Amino acid sequence: MRIPLIAGNWKMNMTCESGKKLAKAIAEGIGDTDVEIAVCCPFPMLFGIADALRGTPIRLGAQNMHWEDSGAYTGEVSAAMLTEAGTTYVILGHSERRHVFGESDEWVQKKLCKAIESELVPILCIGETLEEREQEQTENVLEKQLEMSLKSVAANNAERIVIAYEPVWAIGTGKTATPQQAAEAAEFIRSWLVNKYDNEVSEKIRILYGGSVKPDNASEIMESEEIDGALVGGASLKVEDFIGIINF
Ligand code: PEP
Repeated sequence: MRIPLIAGNWKMNMTCESGKKLAKAIAEGIGDTDVEIAVCCPFPMLFGIADALRGTPIRLGAQNMHWEDSGAYTGEVSAAMLTEAGTTYVILGHSERRHVFGESDEWVQKKLCKAIESELVPILCIGETLEEREQEQTENVLEKQLEMSLKSVAANNAERIVIAYEPVWAIGTGKTATPQQAAEAAEFIRSWLVNKYDNEVSEKIRILYGGSVKPDNASEIMESEEIDGALVGGASLKVEDFIGIINF
């Protein structure tokens, strides 16, 4: 039985003081839930948000990391720095990293391996652009991203990875994939995982959907048995919306 995960991606939308208020308000509003919850915040806020979340069931996530342990990498942050701050999850290969900052599949692969080695839980983002979908390339794109990212990940490590299917055209646009599009992509990812590993490993890996998830579309998107939660951008910034999604 996979435990659903709802992870908020705060992106670069607030400073630490507002983040602490938001984190506390979410913690106060969630009540009893079987859903795992995480908030992924910018690097300088990690320690502050970790403080605000102490004693709550909400886990802390980061939005990126570097694959090296240390060295002359100005502006970068290592896995050890994230774990020191109390981070559990790290988003890797988000489409904004890939498309705005030019991150390659190769970089994502290196980051993923380092995150696993450092006992962080990677949330690996994959997804096609609108052009790729229109050219019926969705499965090819997902396959390539999965192959590259997971090429050196052994079965025993693969189990803890979370994969987020995030169609690029649905992120921050208000356009959501239809439940059928989301389900088809998740089914494709699951069957790819069965082929690469086996049924047992594949059944343990959580697949999230991300792309303009809101309280009013969350339950229909998560109706698919293959979708185990959501990566939420815009709606994670509003307490009522994020809680509405958690209660899908
Ligand atoms: C995201 O940033 O991963 C995301 C899905 O954003 P939004 O929910 O705003 O589309």
